[in-house]
Amino acid sequence: MATPFLDRDLRVIPIDAYIDPPQPRARAIITHGHSDHARSGHGAVLATPDTIAIMKVRYGEDCAGQFQPLEFNTPLQVDDVTITLVPAGHILGSAQVVMEHRGQRAVFTGDYKRLPDRTAQPFELAECDLFITEATFGLPVFQHPRPLDEMARLLRSVAAFPERSHVIGSYALGKAQRVIALLRDAGWDAPIYLHGAMIR
Ligand SMILES: [Zn+2]
Repeated sequence: MATPFLDRDLRVIPIDAYIDPPQPRARAIITHGHSDHARSGHGAVLATPDTIAIMKVRYGEDCAGQFQPLEFNTPLQVDDVTITLVPAGHILGSAQVVMEHRGQRAVFTGDYKRLPDRTAQPFELAECDLFITEATFGLPVFQHPRPLDEMARLLRSVAAFPERSHVIGSYALGKAQRVIALLRDAGWDAPIYLHGAMIR
């Protein structure tokens, strides 16, 4: 049996690089810009151009020693590991990390979403031998309603109570943009006001 080339800390052993590390590392591969995945203080960051741009906006231009942008579906050879970033459909720039080493192929999904969302590059399926997945909302108890049905419900409420404000709580990066896009797709063309905390 082949020796695993990834350890439980998501360290890609042959190249000593960590995926989404919680502590500052010399080499980090970052799946997307959310703060539980992208942190400041790494020596070198490999990520999609969108994720790098998001990190610079949220943490500052110098939040890593250096940045190496990698476009989607563009294999990068690092010593004897080939790294490819594949769209994860979670937020703008979000990527799954596909790693190949001596005939083994591993995929770390990062956060991902398979529903249509025009604010993120659509999820793509990557074949692999080893599949490591995020499992947020993976329990069957989580049955989310359909997004467009929720938007219709909201717009019905706005029509019924035009004198009242309708406040939507939403995570600033990703969810907020998705809700705005869904509202526009549902036909809402009046202004949408954002709380200052949503700006970045
Ligand atoms: Zn996320």
